[in-house]
Amino acid sequence: MDDKKDYEKVAADNEETCSFCGKKRSEVKAIFRNENARICDQCISKMKQDAAKE
Ligand SMILES: [Zn+2]
Repeated sequence: MDDKKDYEKVAADNEETCSFCGKKRSEVKAIFRNENARICDQCISKMKQDAAKE
C-alpha cells in the first residue's frame, strides 16, 4: 500500500510524526507508538475529552 511508504519515509527521517494530527516529535511533549500508528500526547488528551463527552 502507498500508505506504508509514508510511514517508512517518516522513520527514515528519524523524526516521528503523529499519525492523527501530523505534528512532529519536536512539536509535542511525547509521541507514543503501537504496531501500526503513532499518537502524540495532545491527541491522546483530545481523545480522552471526546470519550468523556459521550
Ligand atoms: Zn497528534
